[in-house]
Amino acid sequence: PTGENTPMAIQWFPGHMHLTRNALAERAKSVDVVIEMVDARLPGSSANPMLRELLQQKPSLKVLNKSDLADPERTRAWQQWYEQKDNTRAIALDSHHTAPARALIDACLALRPTRGSMDKPMRVLICGIPNVGKSTLINTMVGKRAAKAANEPGVTRTEQRYTLQDGFYLFDTPGVLWPRIIVAQSGYNLAAAGSIGRNAFDDELVALELLAYLQQHYRPELHHRYAITDEADALQTLPDHELLQAIGRKRGALLPGGRINTQKAAELVLQDFRSATLGRITLETPEEFENWLLTGEKL
Ligand code: GDP
Repeated sequence: PTGENTPMAIQWFPGHMHLTRNALAERAKSVDVVIEMVDARLPGSSANPMLRELLQQKPSLKVLNKSDLADPERTRAWQQWYEQKDNTRAIALDSHHTAPARALIDACLALRPTRGSMDKPMRVLICGIPNVGKSTLINTMVGKRAAKAANEPGVTRTEQRYTLQDGFYLFDTPGVLWPRIIVAQSGYNLAAAGSIGRNAFDDELVALELLAYLQQHYRPELHHRYAITDEADALQTLPDHELLQAIGRKRGALLPGGRINTQKAAELVLQDFRSATLGRITLETPEEFENWLLTGEKL
């Protein structure tokens, strides 16, 4: 990865982010637990560092969502990593799954700060960057009642409150929590997962970064999907652009005259990753992510 071509022309911290920050800080005062949903394929990069700042001492439940698409072994590693922190639990979810409510409620109750007061209502705030699956999860848990989400008096109209069971209230993020990208690698991973707008990055660059990572960590999946059987190719790491060309050739991404359509090839690779056609893949381990924060190219 090199500097000038980072995929993000974006480094948005739009004005309304400040509104979200203020509303979140306000809301956080009156909740018992904060749930942060992250994408299990990129837990570090899909978290918003602002939350960590805002919510320092709050009991926290990390929900590793889309775990059906992620590498199960790495999901467990992330869970363990989170749970080393004070007041923190982590669960893995596939939010299309029928009954995640129980696991989520139980995890929140276990984090309840004052253990004596079991009858006190429990108030929980759920946060996550767009596309992480928050609406899907809320719909799965609340079902038809979602339509009747109550507006809490005195707070932003867009902030909704759902009742998960008697005395257990779930508040949706007041506003939109955009991802805040600190290091280049996080930007590539968010782009690969489809979590940032397509106009913000170059598909080819993102696909090349993805291929570089897959060659290092998920070579069998890569070879299986793209039928790389040539022994010499299979043993050595190809330059990423050559691999992209080879994939384009195999998958018939051709331009008139027979040249490889690398844009098309890049789109195919990204699609294959996003749909988990390539397999269950996680783009960062806790150690890698921590290391990027220390040594990565800051944006
Ligand atoms: P929100 O922006 O956080 O509310 O995200 P949505 O709930 O709209 O979900 C974004 C996309 O991710 C949708 O296409 C969902 O179908 C998909 N999605 C949500 N949760 C999961 C999950 O656990 N697994 C998979 N595979 N897809 C999910």
